[in-house]
Amino acid sequence: MSPLPANEFILKIASRCNLNCDYCYEYNLGDDSWRRQPAFMSLDTAMKAVERILEHIRAHAVTDTIVVSLHGGEPMLAGAAHVSAIAKLIRERLEPHAPVELTMQSNATLVDPDMLTVLRDNRIAVGVSVDGPSHVNDLHRLDHANRSSFDATYSGIRDLRDAGVLSGILSVIDVTSDPLEVFDFVATLEVPQVDFLLPHHNWLRLPRRPNGDLRAYGKWYAPIWEAWLGGRHSWMRIRYFEQIIRALVGAQGLFEGLGLAAVQLIVVAADGSLEGVDTLKSCGDGQQKLHLSIIDAPIDAVLEKNVYAIRQAGADQLCDQCLACPYREVCGGGYFPHRYRGGGLFNSPSVYCDDIQHIIARIRGDIATRSMKAELEVDS
Ligand code: SF4
Repeated sequence: MSPLPANEFILKIASRCNLNCDYCYEYNLGDDSWRRQPAFMSLDTAMKAVERILEHIRAHAVTDTIVVSLHGGEPMLAGAAHVSAIAKLIRERLEPHAPVELTMQSNATLVDPDMLTVLRDNRIAVGVSVDGPSHVNDLHRLDHANRSSFDATYSGIRDLRDAGVLSGILSVIDVTSDPLEVFDFVATLEVPQVDFLLPHHNWLRLPRRPNGDLRAYGKWYAPIWEAWLGGRHSWMRIRYFEQIIRALVGAQGLFEGLGLAAVQLIVVAADGSLEGVDTLKSCGDGQQKLHLSIIDAPIDAVLEKNVYAIRQAGADQLCDQCLACPYREVCGGGYFPHRYRGGGLFNSPSVYCDDIQHIIARIRGDIATRSMKAELEVDS
């Protein structure tokens, strides 16, 4: 079967960041390709990228919503005028052909009135990375002088929220943190959606596990699930849980971190290089590189690359252990970079396999108990 066309495009409009988070796959997990990138994507490169996207969606008659995400590094380092120029280009060229969801992922430390105007005028929905209250966020999210980024991020989140452009929060889990404290903190931000992300590790670089507990991350999620199910901040969407629930009932997945749904994502680096998924940088040895550039290659050239096609192969791409696993349809082998064992091989279970099984079992059990109770109430 031919690979599906891409419908989600990440543009790395900045290759530098004003923060130096220790878990960042861009700078601190062994890949140093950012050093050879221009600091910002030029308007010429952005124009070329948009024309390539247009060529691609026309060739494949894509009319459903396409997502274009402005990423970095820190995309707001590019400045309000440059963000505005790129955003206008994207909307003007692509919107006549397909609906466009324009997003940005930011640390929110550089939000200012000009940037807020650009975000609002160009309908850019901003997701912000923050890991919890200051003492949790400060465990990893420091600047280049080892200073806390918390106050600037917190103030930026409030401004984005007040301007109506804040779409969600991404929090990377520190397994030693108190999950309910993190959950309650995120609730104070009054954001409709959050995701609690597993930090990027693989079989060559194992996650931190207090007392060697192979289910430590699954156990971190569990109290949040229990509290949320019991009504605590029940207005908040928690993407990781929503994904599991959707998969359990056979609905379409929401993101590529779990499940077997085809991934249709392509990354364009600041110099126009095309990449598989950028988080493959966490594997540390250039696994994200496709040796293609939008300057001289169409996006269709990516569809033939194994790292793109394999993520659309459903269960066919799984290792024997995942194929035999009762959680296979829900987990799908976990997030692709977390399966890495070196030598270009991704045919292993996720390094978070036991954690994932723990939380899926918990959610599945709770749903089964609730359905049984509901049936009994109907019968009585
Ligand atoms: S990673 Fe683990 S839980 Fe997920 S499908 Fe594979 S064996 Fe099952």
